[in-house]
Amino acid sequence: MAHYAIIGAGIAGLSALQVLSAAGHQATVFDKSRGSGGRMATKKLAADSWDMGAQFFHAHSNEFATQLSQWQQQGVIAEWPVTPWVINGTRQHPSADEQKRYVAIPRMTALSRLLLQNATHFEANTHISGCEETAQGWQVTASEGEIFGPYDGLVVAIPPAQAAALASNDPVLAVTSETSMLPCWTLLLSFDTPLPAPYDAAFVKSGPLAWVSRNNSKPGREPTEAWVIQASHLWSLQHQDTPRHEIQKPLLAAFAEALRLPAVPQWRHLWLHRWLYALPEKKMNQGFQANPQQTLAICGDWLHSPNIEGAWLSGRTAANALL
Ligand SMILES: Cc1cc2nc3c(=O)[nH]c(=O)nc-3n(C[C@H](O)[C@H](O)[C@H](O)COP(=O)(O)OP(=O)(O)OC[C@H]3O[C@@H](n4cnc5c(N)ncnc54)[C@H](O)[C@@H]3O)c2cc1C
Repeated sequence: MAHYAIIGAGIAGLSALQVLSAAGHQATVFDKSRGSGGRMATKKLAADSWDMGAQFFHAHSNEFATQLSQWQQQGVIAEWPVTPWVINGTRQHPSADEQKRYVAIPRMTALSRLLLQNATHFEANTHISGCEETAQGWQVTASEGEIFGPYDGLVVAIPPAQAAALASNDPVLAVTSETSMLPCWTLLLSFDTPLPAPYDAAFVKSGPLAWVSRNNSKPGREPTEAWVIQASHLWSLQHQDTPRHEIQKPLLAAFAEALRLPAVPQWRHLWLHRWLYALPEKKMNQGFQANPQQTLAICGDWLHSPNIEGAWLSGRTAANALL
């Protein structure tokens, strides 16, 4: 039995964990955050909650479709029967899109929690700042100076800029310089009464926004009226370093326009979040990258395709390379 280290408890790291533990190996998972899920995040404020990152997922590959039906049978995901609208300026209409969309229930983090049960150890709140292959195996160093390992293999499942910082001279990690990530400003609002929108979700094609959705229309969510408002990547990039208090106003104005109201009604809670590394700037087709000895593999959506399915597939292929 080998013991692996996995840096990053997002869906890519956790799908690598699925493969390694199914093959009978041990794995220690590290994440700088308090919990798992990465960009499949949930924000909670008092009794209100929102899917703050990924909104839904669907399958293009047979492999992920099979996985989705298993998770559905286990009761950890459910279909979100929504027909998103399209908003373009003053025009609003239901889309012709018949895509099946799924969400984890009762919130996005439920899926990562289930997958994390396969870990031998989970080191939360542990920012890994370096990794090194020694004669005994891989060692990883936390920012606070603690050294973990040695491990028989290492999976690096974090965004490229963060992976590059681990070992700048490692040729495998050099792939990180080939792409960068786009930001996404996200506004979360909750209300005491339902908003008069004819849609539960909409792709916005004009102005600062790209997506709005009524989080409580998803299965298993709290009934409180809660909306997720995401700015487009272009607008977010243009306003990446704009002070937060200057971001809120244009996003609220654009949301009011999407609701066809003069102003957004008084909210109960408001939260503004900047995802600095939201989505990869370009699609890379490697799927993963490994060293010739196959003791180090790097994975994530940015090495496959910019979504949950891409991250999951990338983590699987990376772990299979190590096996
Ligand atoms: C706003 C937004 C909306 C999105 N909408 C959708 C959608 O609707 N559908 C869809 O399919 N996809 C969507 N995505 C994309 C999807 O969320 C990602 O493709 C996927 O979750 C990426 O998974 P990952 O495991 O590759 O990376 P991540 O989820 O980013 O996981 C990386 C993990 O590594 C940890 N980490 C980073 N650096 C370190 C370090 N040095 N030490 C320790 N831990 C570290 C992080 O805390 C994080 O938990 C969206 C993303 C965002 C941000």
